[in-house]
Amino acid sequence: MDRLAIVVPCYNEEEVIDISSKALREVLDDLIAKKKVSEDSYILFVDDGSKDKTWSLIEKEFQAHSTVKGLKLAGNVGHQFALTAGLMTAREWSDVTVSIDADLQDDVNVIETMIDRFHEGFDIVYGVRNSRKTDTFFKRTTAQGFYKLMAAMGVKTVYNHADFRLMSKRAVDQLSKYHETNLFLRGLVPLIGYQTTTVGYDRRERVAGESKYPLKKMLALAFNGISSFSVKPIDLISGLGVGIIVISIIAAIYALVSYFTGHVEAGWTSLILSIWFLGGVQLLSIGMIGKYIGKIYLEVKNRPRYNVETFLNEK
Ligand code: UDP
Ligand code: MG
Repeated sequence: MDRLAIVVPCYNEEEVIDISSKALREVLDDLIAKKKVSEDSYILFVDDGSKDKTWSLIEKEFQAHSTVKGLKLAGNVGHQFALTAGLMTAREWSDVTVSIDADLQDDVNVIETMIDRFHEGFDIVYGVRNSRKTDTFFKRTTAQGFYKLMAAMGVKTVYNHADFRLMSKRAVDQLSKYHETNLFLRGLVPLIGYQTTTVGYDRRERVAGESKYPLKKMLALAFNGISSFSVKPIDLISGLGVGIIVISIIAAIYALVSYFTGHVEAGWTSLILSIWFLGGVQLLSIGMIGKYIGKIYLEVKNRPRYNVETFLNEK
């Protein structure tokens, strides 16, 4: 039977640990009772350098319950890294992982459906929000704008999926081969390949406490997501350069006509033309150099170039 690890990143979550642990333990006990996962399955709370009582609460849960484990990071490294730390630790001691936020905004009952999908042969199961009714208007619009912008920039992400997902051991193993420091899991996981599917759920309100993702962190995540996966912004600069060169040619015609009809100050024609034309050439050049930097950037990431799904070798 497969050993499940539920990975829960926690940052200053003292208000939710108890509630969260209880809800997750119920789900896990149920899965064990139904023999869908092995008895040594567990919940791994990752303390992302919290400044409150989060860690001591995790310790208490660990002492009291055989299905709880804890991992304490030495400092606050942010949600994406905390989650990665949890997954990389859990992969040594599990066959399948589910990552979920500590605040129970994601529906814990969906974990069972994810496990069912896993048993049907899917390596990655994305939890996808059906609706965003519980989010504020602001959060909803910014979040949806974010997914659209990512798509426009050519970054493949799963629409309305945050980091609530199931990953098989081999999927996490493959994820471990991506060494990049600018980590954006929602963009990386789809690159893994393998069989994937989605399950829908309704996103709830936080059980307690406040969001640890203020606007500033959200914008940073969005920018990191785009700049880690797309060199499109560089193409935009080149495009702008070409556009300005075209405008400068039109302006050249206009300026020459003005010159020959004698309506201009001396020196204006050559000046205005140089400014526009050179501006365009400079932008285009920056864009071209950018192209090379973009390539260096992709090389430096040293991403795995492929991922083998099956190898039919010996019978
Ligand atoms: N989190 C973390 N490190 C951070 C910020 C957040 O581990 O620096 C965790 C947090 O404890 C929660 C999850 O990431 O389990 C998602 O954060 P939150 O619920 O505050 O974000 P929101 O749902 O508001 O986007
Ligand atoms: Mg939340």
